[in-house]
Amino acid sequence: MIRRAAPLAAFIILATTIPALAAPTAGETESKQADPVKVLVGRLDLEKYKATIKGLTKFGDRRQGTDRNRAAVDWIEAQLKSYGCLNISRLKYQYSPSETPRPSGPQVSRDAAPGGGHFRGLRGPTGVNTDPQLQPDEKLRALNTQPTEPGEREEVYCTKVGSTHPEEMYIVGGHMDGHGWGEAANDDGSGTALVMELARVFSSRDVKTERSIRFALWNNEETGLNGARAYVEQRAALQGKQEPVGSGRYPEPKWLGMIQHDMMLFDHGMPHADGTVSKQQRPEADVNIEFQSLSKAADEAQKLAWVFYAANEAYATDYPAAVGPHMTNTDSTPFMDLVPALSLRENERGREIGAGWDPQWHQPTDIYATYSDADFRLGLNAAQTTLGAIGRLTGATLTR
Ligand SMILES: [Zn+2]
Repeated sequence: MIRRAAPLAAFIILATTIPALAAPTAGETESKQADPVKVLVGRLDLEKYKATIKGLTKFGDRRQGTDRNRAAVDWIEAQLKSYGCLNISRLKYQYSPSETPRPSGPQVSRDAAPGGGHFRGLRGPTGVNTDPQLQPDEKLRALNTQPTEPGEREEVYCTKVGSTHPEEMYIVGGHMDGHGWGEAANDDGSGTALVMELARVFSSRDVKTERSIRFALWNNEETGLNGARAYVEQRAALQGKQEPVGSGRYPEPKWLGMIQHDMMLFDHGMPHADGTVSKQQRPEADVNIEFQSLSKAADEAQKLAWVFYAANEAYATDYPAAVGPHMTNTDSTPFMDLVPALSLRENERGREIGAGWDPQWHQPTDIYATYSDADFRLGLNAAQTTLGAIGRLTGATLTR
């Protein structure tokens, strides 16, 4: 009897539990299968990303304080509008080249690389080209000829307003200005286009986020982060204030984090002994996520960096990510003591780019035609990483 009863009891239990396991309700099936962030990441596209970079290169090096720079700001604004990112503003500030530049990163010891850490292995030359004759393309040389003038500057940003927490936001940035007599295709057309592509995806009418996202295209990065500094100086005190009171509108939502994208394409490895760099993207290329260990918000910034690392593992199709502690020399620096700040790049800024790993950096060769699809794909993978992380952090969902 006991022997017979046991299988019977087991059968009853199985008979009542298996249907519940095997046939979840339709709602359960959907929530387990459809990750809305994955759907959004799938809306990024290599050809669209390349086309946006190409569009930016029509304005040459987009040097600050020139007509070509102002025309590029207008074009970016028109693009953002066409994506449906309609909550658009411009920040205005004054800039003169006679201003004393302030440090672009933390104070580090004299033998350290910029931002901290040490140079390792072989190094190649770095610098900013100022000789027009080194640009062999006459049309491009002519386009880049107008010199910079001191005076008023503008930079554009647009905002996706959060559905339940419009008073809080993440800032996603890249700098639209460049120099060096090329097309600033990589530095920083690649980061600017990444931010614009994310604005396009998040602004789609069927996308809802609980928290707000601001897409910022900084100006004057190359002169010492002046556009991002002006933003912090003018707007930090406005954070989280409802204006007008009772309107439910927050012109400057509280900053939850700032993520900068600067030089996203080229990871061909260390220079060779003769100073040259490989022609091909190295197969082990990665997206470098950096925080600054010497910043006041370092602990929170490091946590945020690992969120981005996890998003890369979940959503990036081709290239992995690496996390490092030496973020420096880009528009995230003015934010880093106030809120968690990160930069995403093709290489570490200090010990790698600073050691000549990118021979196009600030050179006439930083033109669209220099890069292959393997290069552009690294930028696309950084876009997948940030879209994935920001989608998760802001609670992105799809509406019908
Ligand atoms: Zn840059």
